[in-house]
Amino acid sequence: MSQAPDFRRRLLRWFRRHGRDLPWRRTRDPYRVIVSEFMLQQTPVSRVEGYYHRFLQRYPSVESLAAARPAAVRESWEGLGYYRRAANLHRLAQRVVAEHAGVIPADPAVLLGLPGVGKYTAGAVASFAYERPTAAVDTNVGRVLRRAFHPRMPKRGAERRLWATGEALVPRQGRRAWEFNQAIMELGALICTARVAKCRECPVRKACKTGRGK
Ligand code: SF4
Repeated sequence: MSQAPDFRRRLLRWFRRHGRDLPWRRTRDPYRVIVSEFMLQQTPVSRVEGYYHRFLQRYPSVESLAAARPAAVRESWEGLGYYRRAANLHRLAQRVVAEHAGVIPADPAVLLGLPGVGKYTAGAVASFAYERPTAAVDTNVGRVLRRAFHPRMPKRGAERRLWATGEALVPRQGRRAWEFNQAIMELGALICTARVAKCRECPVRKACKTGRGK
């Protein structure tokens, strides 16, 4: 992990110049963040954008979503697929209204107890809505961390190790933690993709164990 400070610095510098301007990056509203996170599970950014705006027009608050009929929520999700996400989001809204006075929790451990929220989503909401210095390791981020820090890591125990690396890398200061988590996701989506690692154009190449020899 000796390359960690350099990796962080390079990544943040690149993101500030090249990160995409996405609607959920312009807000810290926890409800909007959680809607985007549910939609982005298994659906690419380009498809989510339109649905995100329409869904929020129809259900502008956690209270309005909680009060909706299940059939209406499903209809608003039509076309996005994986309808279990819509059902979970609906139940989550009802729980937040009933048990948390309509306030989406900031603590990842509490978030984890809500319907449809796994370890990644809990970390993402804590970081993206509340700027908590917590890791958020999804498939894309895990791939970047593995290639950059543990290229020869065996499968066994890999997830735990990737989370530990993610936690060690996240800056302690909230705004920078938000940026770091967005940035590493962006790198995984645009440069260090599942299909190909574009090491020659990668901003963190010199701090990456896979890329630095290329
Ligand atoms: S240098 Fe290559 S392997 Fe390393 S993070 Fe960049 S694209 Fe991925």
